[in-house]
Amino acid sequence: MKLIIQFLFTLFISLALAPIVIAEDNTISIEELEKLPPFPPKFDTLSYLERVNWINERLNEDINAAEEYRLQRELAYQYYFNGEPKLTNAICQSHTPQGFDLYYRHLCVSAEDLNYEQRVEAYLNLHENAMEQGAVQFAVETLSELGWLQSSKGNIRQAFQTFERALELGEDQRVNWPVLNMVMQNTATLYIMYGDAEYRQKGLKLHKEVLKRTKELRDDNQLPPEQAQYAIDLTHFNLGVANTLHERDYEAALDWFGKVNLQQSEQAKSTLVFSALAAVELGKLELAENYLDQSSQLAGSNPVVERYLACYQQLVSLQLNNRGDIPACHNLHSDTQLEVKLDVYKRMSELEQGDLRAKGQAYFYELYKSTLQDQLKQSSSAVASNAELSRLQLESTLQKELLEKEELLKEAERERRETQSNLMYAIIAIFILVVVFGLLQIRQKLRQAKRFKALSQRDSLTGLHNRMYFERRIQRALDAVNLANREEDNKSIAVYLFDIDYFKKLNDSYGHDVGDEVLKEFARRVTHALREQDMLVRWGGEEFLVVAKVDDEDDFYNLAQRIHLAVSQHPFIVTNGIELPVTCTVGGIICPYLADVEQVPQWRILVQLADTAMYYGKSQGRNRWVCISEIPSKEVEEQVLNDGFKTLDKHQGVKLKTSNDE
Ligand code: GH3
Ligand code: MG
Ligand code: MG
Repeated sequence: MKLIIQFLFTLFISLALAPIVIAEDNTISIEELEKLPPFPPKFDTLSYLERVNWINERLNEDINAAEEYRLQRELAYQYYFNGEPKLTNAICQSHTPQGFDLYYRHLCVSAEDLNYEQRVEAYLNLHENAMEQGAVQFAVETLSELGWLQSSKGNIRQAFQTFERALELGEDQRVNWPVLNMVMQNTATLYIMYGDAEYRQKGLKLHKEVLKRTKELRDDNQLPPEQAQYAIDLTHFNLGVANTLHERDYEAALDWFGKVNLQQSEQAKSTLVFSALAAVELGKLELAENYLDQSSQLAGSNPVVERYLACYQQLVSLQLNNRGDIPACHNLHSDTQLEVKLDVYKRMSELEQGDLRAKGQAYFYELYKSTLQDQLKQSSSAVASNAELSRLQLESTLQKELLEKEELLKEAERERRETQSNLMYAIIAIFILVVVFGLLQIRQKLRQAKRFKALSQRDSLTGLHNRMYFERRIQRALDAVNLANREEDNKSIAVYLFDIDYFKKLNDSYGHDVGDEVLKEFARRVTHALREQDMLVRWGGEEFLVVAKVDDEDDFYNLAQRIHLAVSQHPFIVTNGIELPVTCTVGGIICPYLADVEQVPQWRILVQLADTAMYYGKSQGRNRWVCISEIPSKEVEEQVLNDGFKTLDKHQGVKLKTSNDE
């Protein structure tokens, strides 16, 4: 009661009595505030505590009322943004914001301990005052905040209306793009998360409008390219998610995800996982596998997101392999937003595997019991809105399925009526009461993380993949050879290691920059000489490695020849037109190479053998390739690995071929 009186009192003062107070109290005008000299530049460089001290020292000096007001207001900001809303609130009480001072008033509303109705009222007041003062941008921002507040309380219809007002006002008064963009994105997200089919379409349309305008502003140079790219990527991602989780239009989802720039976007991993999900739903199994594979190469940032992405990955694998479990789905992080929990449990409820399907339904019911039942009772009035009713209709199909098919529910036949109505409530409630902030906050956190992940598997000078990439891939390639060989489908794999000859000299004579140029050109030429499916990595310094499937021995030698010629056939032309005759030495090993052993050895052994062949080539005068295609026994293999070809008498039956034999 005290709070309400206090609140009403404040409201009364700030609205009705404002002019009177100005007349008789020590009220401060905008002009007085504007006349004050700015804070010294050093203020911005101080830490939080230093700022608080500095302000308190100034307050003890002999200062006028305007300066005192300004200092107190600054102190209130400092406290609030450093997690001390109670201290902020105390200042707001002792130094009440002036009517014109909208941002300070907003701060005080944020810091005050208000209930829902009071807060709504306070935002509406701020909005109206801002309109009276012509502060349109502020007015729009306030509406947007109010919209989220209403939606988080389950008042969806009001939230929709609030956002629509914000949008209309923003368009009408041409508020600046960042603010309008924010309102459009928020409105779209809200429509898609809570709306019926019609609203969801409106939401998709709004997202596309954001896309169009961002591109226009970028093309007119009114938006820096990176900022535009960031917004465009995010919108593509949002559209993909909307189509995957809400529309279940997987073709469209794949289209949108395909536009996300995976090298740059912080949503790269989520994009790949959701793409895999969409592909598997469309029956495009190979594509799904490919996305899944790519997604598992990226590490996650946020434990909540990581867990549910793992769950989606397992769901996709389950559909690809028709077996396996989905442990991450049984164990979603407790902070996972309801939108995602709901989607996951729904997908589980639709699985073919009876036990998992029953689990999915049980989780669904638990979610309702633990989170939603009480809240539902509080906001049952919201259930009546059209959007929710049509949502209910859509969901009734699922509900029927649950009731008809499941043993779980059959067992509960006696309680069927109760269960049925509970489930119905659950379905309505979930859509009404999803905590909207969750998804946005998590999407935003993703922004910080992913940028450099994809880059970590690339070499920055040549753009080739690096050793880390190789180490993640190689085992899978060797397993495929093992499997094929077991099935008598004789497949061979070849590993080549090659190194530029006398590169140190080149660096010393022409400088490091020219050396770099040569490395780039070298990488470009070798890439062209290879087939798309061959793996080329920069192994280190001026050493490179290729893994390739080959049909037979001839194929194995031909590829070595192609690499060698690509480099040495024509001189390299570098800056200033200088022509440099660059050569390299290639060492290769084909696998299997032991007559009686089918099993492929560990990759480290293959690389070591290729290395031995290369060094043999170096010792024989460089500028050539040397390929090992057969080693007679394990003992000889051991000897080659330990001593190279130095101590072997005529190579003891090792089949060696070099370019000079040709
Ligand atoms: P060899 O024919 O025996 O291979 O002789 P080499 O001079 O090429 O052999 P070595 O491995 O001793 O020298 C490699 C040189 O490559 C040393 C290093 O300074 C240079 N290098 C390594 N990475 C880079 C790079 O990124 N850019 C440039 N410009 N030089 C590099
Ligand atoms: Mg070298
Ligand atoms: Mg070297």
